[in-house]
Amino acid sequence: MATKEIPYKIYLEESEMPKDWYNVRADMKNKPAPLLNPGTLQPMTFDDLRPVFCDELVRQELDDTTAYIPIPEDIRNFYKMYRPSPLVRAYCLEEKLQTPAKIYYKFEGNNTSGSHKLNSAIAQAYYAKQQGLKGVTTETGAGQWGTALSMACAYFDLDCKVYMVKVSYEQKPFRREVMRTYGASVTPSPSETTNVGRKILEKHPGTSGSLGCAISEAVEAATSQEGYRYVLGSVLNQVLLHQSVIGLESKAAMDKYGIKPDIIIGCAGGGSNLGGLISPFMGEKLRGEQDYQFIAVEPASCPSFTRGKFAYDFCDTGMVCPLAKMYTLGSGFIPSANHAGGLRYHGMSTTLSQLYHDGLMEARSVEQTSVFAAAQQFARVEGILPAPESSHAIRVAIDEALKCKETGEEKTILFGLTGTGYFDMVAYEKFNNGEMSDYIPTDEDLQPGFDSLPVMP
Ligand SMILES: *Cc1c(COP(=O)(O)O)cnc(C)c1O
Repeated sequence: MATKEIPYKIYLEESEMPKDWYNVRADMKNKPAPLLNPGTLQPMTFDDLRPVFCDELVRQELDDTTAYIPIPEDIRNFYKMYRPSPLVRAYCLEEKLQTPAKIYYKFEGNNTSGSHKLNSAIAQAYYAKQQGLKGVTTETGAGQWGTALSMACAYFDLDCKVYMVKVSYEQKPFRREVMRTYGASVTPSPSETTNVGRKILEKHPGTSGSLGCAISEAVEAATSQEGYRYVLGSVLNQVLLHQSVIGLESKAAMDKYGIKPDIIIGCAGGGSNLGGLISPFMGEKLRGEQDYQFIAVEPASCPSFTRGKFAYDFCDTGMVCPLAKMYTLGSGFIPSANHAGGLRYHGMSTTLSQLYHDGLMEARSVEQTSVFAAAQQFARVEGILPAPESSHAIRVAIDEALKCKETGEEKTILFGLTGTGYFDMVAYEKFNNGEMSDYIPTDEDLQPGFDSLPVMP
């Protein structure tokens, strides 16, 4: 390799930005298992999915064979407002750790929504607009996805109805107000606006809601109103496809300087940022061109990969969505109050689940206090205040760099810094006050979730 001086930030020119998304499923020998209709247990077809999702997104969801899918020009133009995102050489962190490892991170927090979720939100809003729809519905927990979708809908002048888990609606007024500023209507869930919401309220008056319940309400709101569709910010194949822009840009930037990562690390909630980051690298591995070590990082309190089962499960607690074969803790699993709101989902992308099952990637679980310790260390030397979710990846990147310090290996580490943590200061406050604790569920704690898995014939 020609040794070039590597800048702190490697930017691409606009003209070097990807023109296609990359669909890693095209290169997988073992394709992810199909979504099943929960009634008939038959694979979901285009017609089954059309009432819920936009037509073009259903096509992308079901397409396991097309490797490159062109990014429409309107989406590329929107991307240009906040992309390409920088690939940063963490010289200051390396110095602090006194490690021979070379650490890079791809920073996705440089937009108002503060995370990578905007990459898919804008694509989903675009296809809804193309189809002539009035608007979209969705759920949001901590609010990152709702924020990103509100921005995307504002851009395309679409109506955006967000069902926000009631406890977050009440406790996280800032994200709620960002969404409203961008024109979204935000309803605390469960609500009186849907049948499923009214039913839940009748059964559990005063409930503070859950993500599963908000999904059920958002799906009902979409399917019961003319001109609306439901959109989802993670887990689905289409979302991983849109997020491949992260990996494609990272690879293009590294190729410019002849850098080849040895280890690629990302946090995993539903798997969209990790899937997007690793996609082009995984493609090379699948085609036998290069080898990389991939590590998914999840919270010890919600360990889908490391302690879950690879099985068909419901994607939502209301059991209205299709069944997906994935690493899951069971749709009945209720995670403890872990602050990384975006990593609390019970399941995992079917694509990543298959890759993990086939031994093509690894997973690690980490505890909350060690995650915030890594976040603090990173913030103090690299300047960026990371989201708690992103800090899971930082934790493992630091661990791997410290291993290199012991062995003297000069490995190149790439990790995904998915977003900023300005709306998570209550969690930081707990950590700073020494009031944060770790929680690792026992096997008995996990059992009720596994008991909720559907029995397959
Ligand atoms: C939502 C979110 C995640 C987790 O979602 P994935 O689909 O697993 O990528 C990670 N980081 C941030 C900042 C998020 O908002």
